[in-house]
Amino acid sequence: MKYISLLGATGSIGTQTLDIINEHPTEFQLVAMSVGQNIERARKIITQFQPELVSVANKEDAEELRQEFPKMNFSFGHEGLVEVATYPKATTLVNAVIGSVGLFPTLEAIKAKKTICIANKETLVTAGHLVMDAARKNNVAFLPVDSEHSAIFQALQGEKVKNIEKLIITASGGSFRDKTRAELNNVTVSEALNHPNWSMGAKITIDSATMMNKGLEVIEAHWLFNIPYEKIDVLLHKESIIHSMVEFHDSSVIAQLGTPDMRVPIQYALTYPDRIPLKTAAKLNLAEIGQLHFQKMDLERYRCLRFAIEAGKVGGTMPTVLNAANEIAVQAFLDGKITFLEIEDLIEKALEAHSSVKNPDLDIIQGVDLETRAVVRSLIS
Ligand code: NDP
Ligand code: MG
Repeated sequence: MKYISLLGATGSIGTQTLDIINEHPTEFQLVAMSVGQNIERARKIITQFQPELVSVANKEDAEELRQEFPKMNFSFGHEGLVEVATYPKATTLVNAVIGSVGLFPTLEAIKAKKTICIANKETLVTAGHLVMDAARKNNVAFLPVDSEHSAIFQALQGEKVKNIEKLIITASGGSFRDKTRAELNNVTVSEALNHPNWSMGAKITIDSATMMNKGLEVIEAHWLFNIPYEKIDVLLHKESIIHSMVEFHDSSVIAQLGTPDMRVPIQYALTYPDRIPLKTAAKLNLAEIGQLHFQKMDLERYRCLRFAIEAGKVGGTMPTVLNAANEIAVQAFLDGKITFLEIEDLIEKALEAHSSVKNPDLDIIQGVDLETRAVVRSLIS
């Protein structure tokens, strides 16, 4: 039995993680979870899964739930996230919260020797060096949930990192892949939220439309697999069937394929190195699909991808700025305060204004994160 603590239980990845726990009650048990503001959904999850500890964003919500479920433990805020991530009975943390708020709980869970299944990509982008260092020092398994990194991880089983020629990360292209840059001027929030292949949370759906998501994934891949940026390629692949590939020195390429269903990589992280059936997943039928398409990635069309690769190469606190600026800009777009293309402009301004600090510790990272958020907010207003 694996005892799971889950950050972000009400989200898209959180919900799919609960589906897997529900399908395999003899393999997994939910012991602790966090939600944000969605208390209605939290009530349903509590009733169905009976976790021992629940953390919510606000104190008032925690108190209300405590009255309703007197036998359960409740917590709130940032401390609550850490309590869930380090819950003593849990063996495995699934981090499916959104944003760099996931960083500190991840570091604490690593210190508490939990196996980490990481969906929260902002953690690795903001402080990849600290997180991977801590994972190595504490000898904990750090397993990717994101489909591209899961694909690469699967392709690398039994392989040596020194034999890698390059990683090839595939990209669906997001909601606006068939639009020119000029056509992006007037796009709306609801158009941006309409992803052709994947159903995901709002922030990552916008990140996919700006191609920032692929940029964040390049930085994630750099840290997860310890590969220099020069050896990471991005390839447009509209069908999202090949989830990513690894090319080796002998020119052999290993790819991982499947229908676009996040439950598959989530479950692989939970069962690794085993595999168990997933009844509800659709089988891949290549004869029916017939053709797969690939296209070179255009870094002028997708400026956010270029910003991310450049910020990654500069390193230090530059990716922290990239991530924080993006989080604020995307939220402003979702709130109708800025246009789609202004997301890019704000990120570019924040990056230009910042001088990167080499080898930043957690204090410096958290300071730069907060400062960038303030700078971008003031640019918006
Ligand atoms: P969602 O927006 O669907 O869910 C986010 C979760 O985090 C919700 O449970 C939300 O709570 C909670 N949350 C949000 N803000 C806070 C906060 N400040 N404090 C505490 N909890 C908070 O996101 P996704 O599931 O789409 O994505 C989660 C992570 O996984 C992201 O980093 C994303 O990039 C990554 N990812 C997602 C994929 C996908 O298919 N969705 C694929 C690969 C990676 P509530 O709703 O209750 O307020
Ligand atoms: Mg992905």
